[in-house]
Amino acid sequence: MTIPEVQHDRLIELFTTLCRINSPSRQEREVVEYVKGFLRGLGLEVQEDNAAQAVAGNANNLVATLPANISGVPKIFFSAHFDTVEPNPDVKIILENGLLRTDGSTILGADDKAGMSAILEAIRIVVENNLPHGQIQLLFTVCEEIGLKGARALDLSLVDSDFGFVYDSGPPVGAIVSQTPTHDTMEVRLLGKPAHAGVEPEKGISAIEIAAHAITRMRLGRIDEETTANIGTIHGGHATNIVCPEVQIRAEARSRTTAKVDAQVAHMIECFEKAAQERGGHAEIHLERHYEGYQLTENDLPVRVARAAARKIGLEAPMRPTGGGSDANIFIARGLPCCVVGTAMEKVHTHEEFVRIENLARSVDLALAIIREVNQMRP
Ligand code: ZN
Ligand code: CA
Repeated sequence: MTIPEVQHDRLIELFTTLCRINSPSRQEREVVEYVKGFLRGLGLEVQEDNAAQAVAGNANNLVATLPANISGVPKIFFSAHFDTVEPNPDVKIILENGLLRTDGSTILGADDKAGMSAILEAIRIVVENNLPHGQIQLLFTVCEEIGLKGARALDLSLVDSDFGFVYDSGPPVGAIVSQTPTHDTMEVRLLGKPAHAGVEPEKGISAIEIAAHAITRMRLGRIDEETTANIGTIHGGHATNIVCPEVQIRAEARSRTTAKVDAQVAHMIECFEKAAQERGGHAEIHLERHYEGYQLTENDLPVRVARAAARKIGLEAPMRPTGGGSDANIFIARGLPCCVVGTAMEKVHTHEEFVRIENLARSVDLALAIIREVNQMRP
């Protein structure tokens, strides 16, 4: 079987078209409609769930299915997210020296339109050339950048896949994210009692003093090699002549070992509660698991398949840890095995964001190689 070549012009056209559709989190509808049309044009069955409501946005997650044309092959998915970290309504895209970037005044949106365009182009090539494949689903989510909200809300009754690949990381193409931390965030209200600071300060309870006392006793910063904790914001107080009745604090803790996050968070809560108690105030703490970490080895099925596929097209497939989460954290926690693979996006979340066109094309090749690799799993 000859392997079709990726047509760079057409791929660039697709990628830049996606980038030109403004799609910040919660406002993805236009790009969702475009992708829906693209996939329906290729004959895929396209469904939406009801995530818009859950994420308070204007668009749903999209689940598209390409039925198998050979039997006995595992069902796989490819995933990417629609939303970008910032709006870029008037993006000016510049092609220069094999790179695509903006004029520097906006983000490009390669996070994650590099991933999405590579998946879409691979599917177009599969359909046009009638390449053999098992069932392939595309799980395209909304609101990834604001807390993996789309993936959390994804209607799993639409998903029928054994394992998959999340296209949402940077080069080298084919690199595999081996582990991510578990990440908790905490909102704390420390409550004291107001009093006139000059007339009767002894009747007040200073929330600022509670905060100071709690924080000086708290282990923060780098806790150990894989665990960190931080107080990010602190607000409180109205005037110098009022004993401060309330302080609001936002904090986080992360570790590659979930039990260590749990321990760190328990320690922080204890510091706040104890300090409040000692002074007759109290602490209200709202804890949220931002995402659950995971650890993958080269023996996990999606990793094995992605690495074998990458090597067959001459790519190295290094395993690397990362400090942030992606939709894969949610998919794995919800029982959908997958791994994140490197795509063309670079300098994401900045106005210097760019892609190398050769990496875009490589990501398409990788998707095609993954499909071929899965075909070989037929008994
Ligand atoms: Zn992303
Ligand atoms: Ca991102």
